[in-house]
Amino acid sequence: MALERTLSIIKPDAVQKNVIGRILMRFEASGLKIVAARMTRLSRAEAEGFYAVHRGRPFYRDLVEFMTSGPVLVQVLEGEGAIAKNRELMGATDPKQAAKDTIRAEFATTIDANAVHGSDSADTARTEIDFFFKPGEIFTR
Ligand code: ADP
Ligand code: MG
Repeated sequence: MALERTLSIIKPDAVQKNVIGRILMRFEASGLKIVAARMTRLSRAEAEGFYAVHRGRPFYRDLVEFMTSGPVLVQVLEGEGAIAKNRELMGATDPKQAAKDTIRAEFATTIDANAVHGSDSADTARTEIDFFFKPGEIFTR
């Protein structure tokens, strides 16, 4: 497996629930390193741009509304197979379908407020990391 980087977002619901640390602990426990992190509140334009691939989907408006509803923690995770590993830790999009012990099974409440975002391929990881971080803001250790 290759050393990869992936973008993770702890969404407004999980920040509001005060479980940032418990989610980050799962990344570290699985061997992923947090090589960049920033708390921010997305503007409407940022949320629309970030989720541009979903424009036109029935849930797009609600998704943008939700992602701008409060602060988020954006991070870059690095490790062997980081993209798939993060998706595995996250669990299915709908928390009701998410496997036991995944982040979404434990912390998410609905398909909208589902606690975390994670890049789904090498291409989207690159685009999504560039969306939030300059190269000098990522610290490989
Ligand atoms: P994932 O976040 O698991 O990669 P998608 O990329 O398909 O899922 O969707 C992006 C986000 O849009 C989801 O995390 C969820 O917050 C929201 N979403 C996806 N599908 C639905 C849906 N059917 N109803 C409401 N919100 C949805
Ligand atoms: Mg996705």
